[in-house]
Amino acid sequence: MIIKRLKRLLLSNKLKFTVATVLILYILIFSNIPTGFSYILHASDISGVDEEGRFLYMHGLEDEEVFPSGDFSVNRNFEPADFETEIHKNIYSFDLNDDFLILVNKDHPLLKDVDCELKNYNGFDVDERIYDSLQEMMKDAKNDGINLFISSGYRNYNTQSYLYEKKINYFKRLGYSKEEAIEIASKKVTPPLTSEHETGLAVDILSYGHDIMDQEFGESEAGVWLRENCFKYGFILRYPMGAEDITKIQYEPWHFRYVGKDAAEFIYINNLTFEEFYELILEYNESEKTK
Ligand SMILES: [Zn+2]
Repeated sequence: MIIKRLKRLLLSNKLKFTVATVLILYILIFSNIPTGFSYILHASDISGVDEEGRFLYMHGLEDEEVFPSGDFSVNRNFEPADFETEIHKNIYSFDLNDDFLILVNKDHPLLKDVDCELKNYNGFDVDERIYDSLQEMMKDAKNDGINLFISSGYRNYNTQSYLYEKKINYFKRLGYSKEEAIEIASKKVTPPLTSEHETGLAVDILSYGHDIMDQEFGESEAGVWLRENCFKYGFILRYPMGAEDITKIQYEPWHFRYVGKDAAEFIYINNLTFEEFYELILEYNESEKTK
């Protein structure tokens, strides 16, 4: 009796339909077919910017499509918080000669120590031009019940070299060869002249509620507050989760970089990494030159 019923069930159209639906959903969810729910942005997807500074965006085999930057909703990891934008800036309004838009990474090392006026914030030096914004951010967080503190600010060449060498030696002591030790160490500490901390524009921020530099900081009250509010003060979360292939740096929910309010807002709204933002400005400038 049971076997008969089971046989009938297996052959029923209802079951076939269910299996097919589940299969289709599975393929859509676990494959990279863009479903419209979320689409991960990569620099290579952006084929340029039009005259009005809007992204020209390429996906799949379709032709180029134009997305106004404000409506450009990509979802790399976190949904931007809801807010009304007062300053609507398009990519063409940014100038890479702006001191605050300096790109520093392994491919773009500094040529020498940055020469900026420093100001001490609770024991850590920062470029004095970002001092007020930093102070305002820390104060507003405190008003929201979040007690933040700086755990790293400006580092000069010697300090960065010292930290880097120390990390290499640590891995050598663990038994790695010199080459291996350098490779692992450079993922943890950036080599001298390639660290944003050498610009005076980057700060590491933790909270008294979560004072360890780990990935869980990003999910702490302080980490969430910083991620959602830092742009209002001109800062960006410099190494977001899921963007390691672009930034070449692991997710660092504690590392914030000053880029100025307009740039920070633009980067936040469009869910970009600083590398992608920089690349877009370059592309726009080049398309201007060839006009
Ligand atoms: Zn840092």
